[in-house]
Amino acid sequence: MSHSNISIFIPHAGCEHNCIFCNQHIISGAEKPPTAVEVKAEIKTAISKLKNPENTEIAFFGGSFTCLPDEYMTSLLAVAWEAVRLHNLAGIRISTRPDAITPDILDTLESFGVTAIELGAQSMSDEVLRLNRRGHTALDVVKAVALIKERFEFGLQMMTGMYGSNADTDMKTAKAIAKLAPDTVRIYPTVVIKGTELEKVWEQTTSLDEMVSIVAAMVSLFETENIRIIRVGLHASETLEADITGGYYHPAFGELVENEIFFRLITEKLTKKGAYIIYVHPKNISKAIGQKSKNITKLSLSGYDITVRPDETLTGRREIRAKHEHIKE
Ligand code: SF4
Repeated sequence: MSHSNISIFIPHAGCEHNCIFCNQHIISGAEKPPTAVEVKAEIKTAISKLKNPENTEIAFFGGSFTCLPDEYMTSLLAVAWEAVRLHNLAGIRISTRPDAITPDILDTLESFGVTAIELGAQSMSDEVLRLNRRGHTALDVVKAVALIKERFEFGLQMMTGMYGSNADTDMKTAKAIAKLAPDTVRIYPTVVIKGTELEKVWEQTTSLDEMVSIVAAMVSLFETENIRIIRVGLHASETLEADITGGYYHPAFGELVENEIFFRLITEKLTKKGAYIIYVHPKNISKAIGQKSKNITKLSLSGYDITVRPDETLTGRREIRAKHEHIKE
């Protein structure tokens, strides 16, 4: 089941690693890790605006939660756990590194009401992990998953287009992740942030369009395996945008992927050249048309004259009906 989140950002402080793409100060938009008192106030404000507390989790994101000093980590968990019990919230979600999971850590997390753990797997290629100085291996991911799986909802986060990877290694990572059968995945295309090690070595070899196409294939793979995709692309942020010097950032990356999936689905319906009316659920009209009518234009270049129309009887889950109008001369 999908929950909404009260997101609390905990920047780099807890992490002793230095992944070449990471500058947590910029990603989280906060310089200093918040105190438990500050987090408590943040949660209180967020709860006062909630419509569905029972469907809301408190989520700690931004750094490597279980790498935080014990006392600090448990002080954060204590205020979150108190709020969960007091306001009947759905639970607590944390994200961390695969090599920062032990049975003892899991016991602590469980005792403070943590319900979901997300691991930053990023890649399942040891060579890509090494080049990006992740400081863990693919096997660490597998081992951590084995420990977490039976006790918590678990999610895996992966990055595409990492330094040293390509479409093939990215797809192999997606398949390896699907094999671990997580409850959720997040897919983050690599972005190059000013001041990072990655900026010094980066050479852009794949276009944004190609990356959208690679991620669209992954989305289809995860959906086929019934794995819930909770995020595609980084959250749009002006702070972040100002510091991006390369990679695959688009403020609506997830929408571009969705448009690409519609393009593929429509293409599958086109049996012969000519004009077609494509019917979709009203909420999917813009996805079927694509940003700046990109899907229509691409299909027109291949000899298809496409009109997209709404049909309320179709489901919002990308159901499509195609009607062939006539054969073009
Ligand atoms: S493990 Fe996470 S927080 Fe630490 S350097 Fe790498 S990306 Fe940044």
